[in-house]
Amino acid sequence: MTEDGHRYRGGVPSPFDLSLDELAGLLDGEPSFRARQVWDGLHRRGLRPEEMTDLPLGLRERLAEALPPGLTAVACRSSDEGSTQKWLWRLADGSQVESVLMRYEDRVTVCVSSQAGCAMGCTFCATGQGGFERHLTTGEIVEQVVRARRAAAPDRLTNVVFMGMGEPLANYDRVWSAVRRIHDELGLSARRLTLSTVGVVPGIDRLATEDLPVTLAVSLHAANDTLRDQLVPLNRRYPLAELAAACRRYVAASGRRLSLEWALIDGVNDRPSDAAELAAFARPLRAHVNLIPLNPTPGYPVRGTPRARVGAFRRHLEHAGVAVTVRDTRGNDIDAACGQLAARAADGTTTSGRRHLGRVTMRHAARPGRP
Ligand code: SAH
Ligand code: SF4
Repeated sequence: MTEDGHRYRGGVPSPFDLSLDELAGLLDGEPSFRARQVWDGLHRRGLRPEEMTDLPLGLRERLAEALPPGLTAVACRSSDEGSTQKWLWRLADGSQVESVLMRYEDRVTVCVSSQAGCAMGCTFCATGQGGFERHLTTGEIVEQVVRARRAAAPDRLTNVVFMGMGEPLANYDRVWSAVRRIHDELGLSARRLTLSTVGVVPGIDRLATEDLPVTLAVSLHAANDTLRDQLVPLNRRYPLAELAAACRRYVAASGRRLSLEWALIDGVNDRPSDAAELAAFARPLRAHVNLIPLNPTPGYPVRGTPRARVGAFRRHLEHAGVAVTVRDTRGNDIDAACGQLAARAADGTTTSGRRHLGRVTMRHAARPGRP
């Protein structure tokens, strides 16, 4: 039984929630090397039990029965060129979350969810408007990466960003075990793993003590407390001065450059004074700023900053000595359900980051993970 009171086959919602020992327990009576073989089949090769042809047929069938269900693709959308794929997953208890795979010239990135819903209540965010359902388990997070990695083949998945649904630092332990597993078992380097936070200060401080120097992205959106209190309610708990101090500590401890995310909202946070405040926040941290015009959502029908003024905002920051990337928002129209996943692809801090969302067609995926 989980903390949410749901009972799953195997006691956990995803096969990736089982430890190697627990897997060995399920394979009771089999030779001891089998657990490792199945573990590698799941993680390294992204196979379902019935596809593990190096196992005897009977064992495959037994495993398919015994393993928890994991993620079921309710829908999979892909761009015309197939360079972007977005999944809507149903979890074992019926909750739904999304992940997005994005292929660029120099990298392949998956954007994963860390919670079903989110309790942070940011006014402009579709996930925040829907409220909190539950934390994802470590296995459910790892499984999103494994499924995307398999879909990316023959290209190699290089980056993971926690910019899907949920606040990763509000689900710290499970997210961090997922980060470890993605690093240790899937072999992605820490600098290619990005945690995005709305500013959970104790989480940032904990992150600074970890031995894997992951990339940290802070969703800022406003650099004065009055405006940020409105857009990001968590700011009332951890105001900008505290957030800035935590950012400084993280940069000092990790040696990593920080990114600041800024959704440009028409007439709200895109004035010259906003750019000046952002520059003053970013410069001492030597942070890289990612700008993205807001993706309008049902609960906050304000439009994103029009293109011409995005350019002006960007130039203002550049003149102030701040490194900036503008993210494209062509995917807005395909993404009404979530309103943010496809709009956000920030993973590198220095690339020009052209996105490939384009027009996207819906197809129901009988065999999820296959382009
Ligand atoms: N909770 C974390 C990570 C998930 S949100 C965080 O807030 O950082 C991922 C990113 O999407 C954040 O930068 C968030 O501000 C942004 N976002 C949310 N709603 C958006 C919208 N409607 N348009 C553009 N970006 C949005
Ligand atoms: Fe949660 Fe991030 Fe959305 Fe805010 S922007 S509600 S923290 S998912």
